[in-house]
Amino acid sequence: MLTKIIDEGLIQKAKHILGNADKVAVIGHLGPDGDALGACLAMTDYLVQRGKKVQVMLPDEFPAFLNWLPGANKTLIYTQQPEACETFLKKADAIFLLDLNQLNRIGGLAETVGALKTPKVLIDHHPNPDKFADVTISYPQFASTSEMVFRFICRSGYFDEMTKDCAICVYTGMMTDTGAFTYNSNNEEMYYIISQLIHKGVDKDWVYNKVFNTYSVDRMRLMGFVLYNRMQIWDAYHTAIITLTQEDLNEFDYQVGDTEGFVNLPLSIQGIVFSVFMREDNDKIKLSFRSRGAFPCNKVASNLFNGGGHLNAAGGEFYGKMDEAVKLLEEWLPDFMI
Ligand code: 5GP
Ligand code: MN
Repeated sequence: MLTKIIDEGLIQKAKHILGNADKVAVIGHLGPDGDALGACLAMTDYLVQRGKKVQVMLPDEFPAFLNWLPGANKTLIYTQQPEACETFLKKADAIFLLDLNQLNRIGGLAETVGALKTPKVLIDHHPNPDKFADVTISYPQFASTSEMVFRFICRSGYFDEMTKDCAICVYTGMMTDTGAFTYNSNNEEMYYIISQLIHKGVDKDWVYNKVFNTYSVDRMRLMGFVLYNRMQIWDAYHTAIITLTQEDLNEFDYQVGDTEGFVNLPLSIQGIVFSVFMREDNDKIKLSFRSRGAFPCNKVASNLFNGGGHLNAAGGEFYGKMDEAVKLLEEWLPDFMI
């Protein structure tokens, strides 16, 4: 049995909004990862089973290694089809926002969504959510939003109706947000849920292979290049920093998602507690942070790089040159070491 952690009042409020809804928009965050997409697709499958007309929309593209997720091909990408997203949103009776704690995390969709009076439900596990939804289901103690969606479906009384496709999406999000159960993964109930998902037909080894063993040759070579030529170790701060320019990316025919996971690599080095990855995008530097123990990635992200996230995994952006971003980090890093 699962502990009833999510407040019953919140479940009832969300159920009430759904009860009155025919068309539902389900939205995940910018730079969608396995949890954002998994949670959105699991929620969508559940709502479709319940007879709703559902549209998943994401602010920008998700990585190709998630293409196989059931329902991924029906996703609308705002940067590619802004009008289609806006048309659906304006007709929607409810909007579900998943795996994000600030409205600006839905990028170009934020303006339309923010202006609509349509009832909004937020389901998320990032700390300190802004108040932009009518129902805020925020529990940072959960390792993934996908686990929260599973719990939401069960608490709504629909576990028996849960499909295998829905279970696959939930499992994928739980797996990717814990590095295949290597961090944030000591909660006993997580393994009870996994057993329930396997009962629904999930082949967890197959999912692992779909997500982690589908590298292109270019991506593998880029990883080798990064580790050999672009990783610096700042011994005094037990920190590793990787920087990648557009030129580097072009050399390896970069595709969206190719650098996913690179930020985790230096944490395999003994003694490294903080890992930083910086990638030059068109108009900005995108940063990812990972840490071990108490080092606060989310503080570095929010104080220095307009970002946020969790204690051990966060991200941000920098509008300027790579060397300026590195300098900023170098200057302030000692302050976070205390
Ligand atoms: P990643 O490094 O995998 O892109 O993101 C790690 C975590 O940080 C995720 O939980 C993600 O939601 C959060 N995150 C990444 N980039 C940003 C950002 O630019 N702003 C905020 N607020 N959170 C971010
Ligand atoms: Mn997540």
